[in-house]
Amino acid sequence: MICPFCEKDNDKVIDSRSAEGGRVIRRRRECVGCARRFTTYERVEHTTRLMVIKKDGSRVPFGRENIARGLAAACGKRPVPEDVKVRIVDRVEEEVHREFDKEVESSEIGRRVMALLREVDEVAYIRFASEHEQFKTLSDFVQEIQQMATRPKGDRKQQSLF
Ligand SMILES: [Zn+2]
Repeated sequence: MICPFCEKDNDKVIDSRSAEGGRVIRRRRECVGCARRFTTYERVEHTTRLMVIKKDGSRVPFGRENIARGLAAACGKRPVPEDVKVRIVDRVEEEVHREFDKEVESSEIGRRVMALLREVDEVAYIRFASEHEQFKTLSDFVQEIQQMATRPKGDRKQQSLF
């Protein structure tokens, strides 16, 4: 690892621990050059890949880039910071890997993205929902928008991203 202070590539690992349910390895390192310490986080590849069941019944390996792409499309030019989008993807990835063993429906993933996105930007949320065909008809749309107007925000406090 390149030392962030002196940029020498010579360090020793002084502590390693797993985080986020074993999906991330946190390593505390000490630079041999300047003796300063820094931390790295390494994402662990899943050995058995979670499969996503698409609406047509086909299966594809889970890919966080697919969630990121859908999110980017829904957000468009909406004022949603990049780090917030990354956190949504992280959260959904973590949730589905924790709760599903081998396979998960794509609609289940979509539902989770929507729940988080709704807290962030309602327009992006509606766009995401329409892209993912969570709404079948125009009246589904209207109903959702009407409900949004009356429903209190922050009903997912325990899952808050911020
Ligand atoms: Zn250094």
